[in-house]
Amino acid sequence: MSRVLLPLPIPMPSSVFASERLLFTPATPINNAIPLIFAFPNEYSVGITSLGYQVVWATLAMREDVQVSRLFTDTHEQLPRKPEIVGFSISWELDYVNILNLLESLEIPMRATERDDRHPIIFGGGPVLTANPEPFADFFDVVLLGDGEDLLGNFIAAYQEVRNASRQTQLKALAQIPGIYIPSLYEVTYQTVDGPIKSIKPIFPEVTAVVQKQTYRGNTLSASTVVTEKAAWENIYMVEVVRSCPEMCRFCLASYLTLPFRTASLEGSLIPAIERGLQVTNRLGLLGASVTQHPEFETLLDYISQPKYDDVRLSIASVRTNTVTVQLAKTLAQRDTRSLTIAVESGSEKVRQIINKKLNNDEIIQAAINAKAGGLTALKLYGMVGIPGEEPEDLEQTVAMIRSIKKATPGLRLTLGCSTFVPKAHTPFQWLGVNRQAEKRLQLLRKQLKPQGIDFRPESYNWSIIQALLSRGDRRLAQLLEITRNFGDSLGSYKRAFKQLKGQIPDLDFYVHADWSTEQVLPWSHLQGPLPQSTLLKHLADATSHFDSSPKELQPV
Ligand code: SF4
Repeated sequence: MSRVLLPLPIPMPSSVFASERLLFTPATPINNAIPLIFAFPNEYSVGITSLGYQVVWATLAMREDVQVSRLFTDTHEQLPRKPEIVGFSISWELDYVNILNLLESLEIPMRATERDDRHPIIFGGGPVLTANPEPFADFFDVVLLGDGEDLLGNFIAAYQEVRNASRQTQLKALAQIPGIYIPSLYEVTYQTVDGPIKSIKPIFPEVTAVVQKQTYRGNTLSASTVVTEKAAWENIYMVEVVRSCPEMCRFCLASYLTLPFRTASLEGSLIPAIERGLQVTNRLGLLGASVTQHPEFETLLDYISQPKYDDVRLSIASVRTNTVTVQLAKTLAQRDTRSLTIAVESGSEKVRQIINKKLNNDEIIQAAINAKAGGLTALKLYGMVGIPGEEPEDLEQTVAMIRSIKKATPGLRLTLGCSTFVPKAHTPFQWLGVNRQAEKRLQLLRKQLKPQGIDFRPESYNWSIIQALLSRGDRRLAQLLEITRNFGDSLGSYKRAFKQLKGQIPDLDFYVHADWSTEQVLPWSHLQGPLPQSTLLKHLADATSHFDSSPKELQPV
């Protein structure tokens, strides 16, 4: 390989890496270790705050057969002149722009089809790609689907076997490993150029027709491998308490994509990990989609409440509403937390039945009362508009519920954060489009809540549209993403790119607002999530049975 990789057009402040306190011992790479760049397509402070990125980097750094260097958009370690593998961990969809920029900086062609034996293998992993890699599929040689614990080691071991083979041989060999998806080995055909997908088939008979997302079954979950004051959450030590969520709210990717619900063993993993971390910092983050549902959460709380941890600042990622006890609020208040966030989604019983949210208004009001009684001063509620089957009167019930909470907890500062429903792959609502009335509904809530002194913070509707586009996108979007990159990241930029490609790909409405037939081949039909389609359809039918009227668009076309 003759290309010169350095210098990248980015600064390299050495002090950033010097501030790191490592909680693992890196191996000394052997002579012919694989030169590998592991990138996070955003700034260092963001990347190093990602537990997933930290863990994968440490796993690679502990192998003596790999020489890993880290790359961020604003800094990097000493990079190899001829990397054999370049990996990206992606946790935010719009970071694809930075992936393309970084590939360009490294003088690597952006499209997998333009790479040859002289170029490194480009792999990607993380929640965005595991949910739906298809809009980004043309940019990657390899996508790792699912939990990295076993997958990463299997990937490196399989690569070692074919390290000196041709690129095509390497890719075909890697495709034999469960959870490794090689997009270029599948052909996608379309019913029409701007219509649904007709088929997705492997190009070679030895390539599996369906790639199974990998699930780690152990009871030791992730914990920080590095603590640094330069992280976005300064000096935080993170431990993953649970993985997935057993509640299965019908729209929820955090639950459906990562099932089954798994919990870290308290004595065998969580407490030793926390003890290790609290030797180097006093800031502790408990992570997981549903932390308070750990079966021994109370014991964990008692452990953290010991006097020796009096100066520990505690953050909890997510708290299920009906697990907010006075004790939990008290512990948080004593550990420097003033506010708590709970997801209520809606004040309407009907809507909660649709989404399978097993919660009632009394429990929500009690949670607020407990939060206040425990000494917290603020409560952030998280809601959603445009949920399938939602009618305008359901919003009135949300407003009424917030009013009741305010009445029951005078003095507690109330905020309602509110997003728009976005369909996500591998959930029962993957077939349903974004409600065209959602923006108006956000405005309606603002109008009604403001006079009552409720701080209303809607998420950008335009951002929800972009999210929906990427979450239900297929490979035809690669062209669009390349064009949009030059226009900016606003919705207007995407619309401009759609205009430019008119007649060559489906329109924005097809991806975002249209309800899709359940007979349709989905862009991710060849990538198997935790639940079979038949189960997702059952959950969808259960949801739509609570609709006031049946959604006609879901009938097979
Ligand atoms: S409770 Fe929260 S994390 Fe769990 S499924 Fe529902 S929305 Fe998802």
